[in-house]
Amino acid sequence: MTKRLYYDQPDLLEFDSVIEETAAITEPAAGRSSGNSGAAHTSVILRESAFYPTSGGQVHDTGWLTLGFGGRLRVAEVADAEDGRVVHYLEAPAKPPLKGTAVHGSIDPDRRRDHMQQHTGQHVLSAVFIELYQFPTVSFHMGADYCSIDLATDALSTAQVAGAEKRANEIAFENRPVRIRYVRRDEAEKLGLRKLPPEGREDLRLIEIADFDLSACGGTHVNSTAQIGSILLRKTEKTRQGVRVEFVCGARAVRMARRDYATLTEAAALYSAQLGDVPAMIRKGFDDVKSLRRAGEDALEQLAQAMAEAALASGDVQNTGPANSGQRIILRTFSDRDTNFAKLFAQKITRAGVSAIALVGSTVTPAGLVFAQSAGGAADMGSLLKQVLSSVGGRGGGSRDFAQGGVPAGANVEDLLRQAASTIGS
Ligand SMILES: [Zn+2]
Repeated sequence: MTKRLYYDQPDLLEFDSVIEETAAITEPAAGRSSGNSGAAHTSVILRESAFYPTSGGQVHDTGWLTLGFGGRLRVAEVADAEDGRVVHYLEAPAKPPLKGTAVHGSIDPDRRRDHMQQHTGQHVLSAVFIELYQFPTVSFHMGADYCSIDLATDALSTAQVAGAEKRANEIAFENRPVRIRYVRRDEAEKLGLRKLPPEGREDLRLIEIADFDLSACGGTHVNSTAQIGSILLRKTEKTRQGVRVEFVCGARAVRMARRDYATLTEAAALYSAQLGDVPAMIRKGFDDVKSLRRAGEDALEQLAQAMAEAALASGDVQNTGPANSGQRIILRTFSDRDTNFAKLFAQKITRAGVSAIALVGSTVTPAGLVFAQSAGGAADMGSLLKQVLSSVGGRGGGSRDFAQGGVPAGANVEDLLRQAASTIGS
């Protein structure tokens, strides 16, 4: 088993050790979270290590191994082996160093500090959710951008989120010591831990936040709660096992706030508004769009009405309807207005108080035909449209008084209308 220096010295970032074993691996090792399959990696086992391997929700450290003669190897990933040893995966390509070589390990300090802030923040948050609402934490995830805990509860209100965030930050500001203790399992069971590990381990490592929280954990933590920095709760989301709460601590909270501020500033600039006014401006924009759309629709209605009246009053009447029906036929092709307007125009023609048939088309893509007659007219618009469109492979349909369909590209809209008119007239 590798001696894990981080157990008792979580601040140790530089250490000396000796290589006990190396291996070249071409397949990703079992249990590794990532790994470029097919790429050659070298794994190194040390006599002792301060590198933290991925476990318990906390992500592994990265860093360097410096060899006695000056060579420097990048540690890209660290994992727990089943036999209790810590495996250091070197960035490919790396020539395996010899067994027995003295090495100096250096851990990436920013990454480690970040992990300690997130992880200790998680202990505080999980304890706060128990203290305030009796919601136990069932899992913890540390991502590259944010972290999350899953709470065993059906619902979590916005007020509860705000309450938990406030209490968690109080614990941070009170600068409570965070201590490491070792106890035997039977002893631990009497201490009322927030979290007991599964059976099988006799000696337990406990993390104690003074007068606030005690739980068994093998991770790395800050020495006092002030080192967590601020704790910021963000999105909550319902999951199968409860409610997921996203959070960020310390430097991440500052980074997130900076990013949010940049986004909001950009939005405010678009509206030439103050940051706090952005939601009101967006709401106003929605309302404006809605009333503009309504005004546009009203104007089109009026335009269609005026054009229909003009058509009926002028010589646009192309033909007469079925024998003795007294219906007048209006033919019109629009090249600057779409099929929706053609439909509007046709409706105005057929509801103008005279018995009429409107054969209307639009050449605006997608081109279409609208056939309509005043209610109860003698012709059949549905079958007329089907007949005309089938000659060019188009599709459409409707009732006796109204039908609509699409004109395939290449077909001539005006020809189709003339064809329809002569079919009715014959
Ligand atoms: Zn922990």
